[in-house]
Amino acid sequence: MAAPRDWLGTVEAEGIAGRQGSSGVEVVFPSDPATPAPLCPHGPTLLFVKVNQGKEETRRFYACSACRDRKDCNFFQWEDEKLSGARLAAREAHNQKCQPPLSRTQCVERYVKFIELPLSQRKFCQGCQQLLLPDDWERHQEHRVVGDISVTQLKRPSQLLYPLENKKTNAQYLFTDRSCQFLVDLLSTLGFTRVLCVGTPRLHELIRLKASGEKKSNIKSLLLDIDFRYSQFYMEDSFCHYNMFNHHFFDGKAALEVCRTFLQEDKGEGVIMVTDPPFGGLVEPLAVTFKKLIAMWKEGQSQDSNQKELPIFWIFPYFFEFRIRQFFPSFCMLDYQRFHRTFICVDEAMKYGCMLEVDYDNHALYKHGKTGRKQSPVRIFTNIPPNKIILPSEEGYRFCPLCQRYVSLENQHCEHCNSCTSKDGRKWNHCFLCKKCVKPSWIHCSICSHCALPDHSCGGPKDGCFICGELDHKRSTCPKIATSKKVNKAVRKQKQRKSNKMKMGTTKGQSMNHTSVTRKKSRRERAHQYLCS
Ligand code: SAH
Ligand code: ZN
Ligand code: ZN
Ligand code: ZN
Ligand code: ZN
Repeated sequence: MAAPRDWLGTVEAEGIAGRQGSSGVEVVFPSDPATPAPLCPHGPTLLFVKVNQGKEETRRFYACSACRDRKDCNFFQWEDEKLSGARLAAREAHNQKCQPPLSRTQCVERYVKFIELPLSQRKFCQGCQQLLLPDDWERHQEHRVVGDISVTQLKRPSQLLYPLENKKTNAQYLFTDRSCQFLVDLLSTLGFTRVLCVGTPRLHELIRLKASGEKKSNIKSLLLDIDFRYSQFYMEDSFCHYNMFNHHFFDGKAALEVCRTFLQEDKGEGVIMVTDPPFGGLVEPLAVTFKKLIAMWKEGQSQDSNQKELPIFWIFPYFFEFRIRQFFPSFCMLDYQRFHRTFICVDEAMKYGCMLEVDYDNHALYKHGKTGRKQSPVRIFTNIPPNKIILPSEEGYRFCPLCQRYVSLENQHCEHCNSCTSKDGRKWNHCFLCKKCVKPSWIHCSICSHCALPDHSCGGPKDGCFICGELDHKRSTCPKIATSKKVNKAVRKQKQRKSNKMKMGTTKGQSMNHTSVTRKKSRRERAHQYLCS
């Protein structure tokens, strides 16, 4: 769900991809790095290489792992660049300055004080996105402050906090209650007792609500997320400030140990990892991180269970299937298509001091949207055998005995492919020339000798993607495009900075705002963004 909208737009448009002048950037993971990667405020940076139409440039550089927008983190360093002591010190100071103002322990202490206050004294500053203690009131006098924060509200921080909307870096696409409920029920049916929530704050919240509710469930949850604001609402053992693109724990060893203990409890039995990463990010760094979490879990395994894998739900768009399976061949993609985002009416939120959320299932606008399609492109990728994952028949899913998995109603078993082939919720058609099933909107093109959209341009450079060369998508929908754009810009800026520097003799860094929230976007604009997905 964490998706820059413009990607989804282009994916739906299937093939309007431009081909001219494309170039891209890839992450490299040197097997034997000579030096450790330099640090930005988000932990170790990643090493990138610029690729021009398949040809690698030799000069590699480091850039931020988490931010795909230089406004959020402008780190840039050539791999072979030697920095002066003064510049290293300035960088170190900058990294320090960008860390959250309160330590994890301070946050917990504040939280404990906060819950002891009488209701009338429990205030939350919407402007600063912060719970206030009486000592803070004066400083927030001029801000928009809401009072009477109930225990129920404290238990649902994702409703109290504005979703971060920076499209490139930290877009938060929260599950609707219905989607979230589906997940929690599924986890509980599958018998899990611990859930490691990586970038799923709302799932974490719902699991905990259930554990403290009337019909108590016994599922525990630990949230790892880069959104520091959550540390105000959780004790050390249920939230770690974490960067999933480089496996960095912002609070160091203590936080890493929290995660390790959680994974290894009960000899690693009963735990699952659920993740819903921003998909403007690269698949490879995520895969590297998840493998580290898997290894951490494995350390705690007893000898006889060596064969087992850490169960994982990776929530991601269907068009990343190929990339994900490159790193995790045992993963399969489930056909569940009804992950819906909440639609937050920010204007009303400002008026009433709470989030009003609309479930798109019930939303007239959505139902009659531009594409007229109800499905979201987001799927669950998992290493749990799909026949164990029962999808709701009241939503039209059925069991295919041949595929041994639950599929959507429209997804028909193709006897030639021997599989239920649809990926996107529409019925796909078998093409005997291509020897596979293709999207209903495609026709076979005798010039290109494969299926494509009727209005494609024939003959261009042999299909496939300009950035990574893979055949199943175009440049505009390449899983690597976001970084490629950012880094190209970074390279350009770097060059520009150099020339400016020569002119002015100085450069200025940008600082990062941990709670930058865009609130100006109109409701209409948001609805539009969603509908175009
Ligand atoms: N559907 C989920 C939210 C997914 S939005 C839910 O409802 O629970 C993506 C989440 O990933 C956000 O919470 C965001 O803060 C987090 N995130 C974004 N970049 C991250 C990073 N580099 N490391 C860790 N978490 C990140
Ligand atoms: Zn950074
Ligand atoms: Zn089938
Ligand atoms: Zn077929
Ligand atoms: Zn053609």
